[in-house]
Amino acid sequence: MQNAKYLRHRADSWAKRLKVSPRSIRVQQMTRKWGSCSTLGTVTLAADLLRCKDSFQDFVIVHELLHLRVPNHGRLFKALLTAHIPHWRTLDLTRKA
Ligand SMILES: [Zn+2]
Repeated sequence: MQNAKYLRHRADSWAKRLKVSPRSIRVQQMTRKWGSCSTLGTVTLAADLLRCKDSFQDFVIVHELLHLRVPNHGRLFKALLTAHIPHWRTLDLTRKA
């Protein structure tokens, strides 16, 4: 059984790989999004991710962590995302209730 600690641990190891240093990584209930990244460097991950596949967790984690380097979804952001999650275009970040 996965727990919030496991998710934060995965986010931690991705942060090292992506060479970013989030101020903090939180896992909490979110109903409308899978994750967020604040301008102050706090990455928040939806607790419901614990019920998702590892590959989807990685996608959300990498997406939010990359915002620490690129604040928008422009070409650089997409290039970095592709470098780490090559199949990201087949995944959907929008959350249907
Ligand atoms: Zn984003």
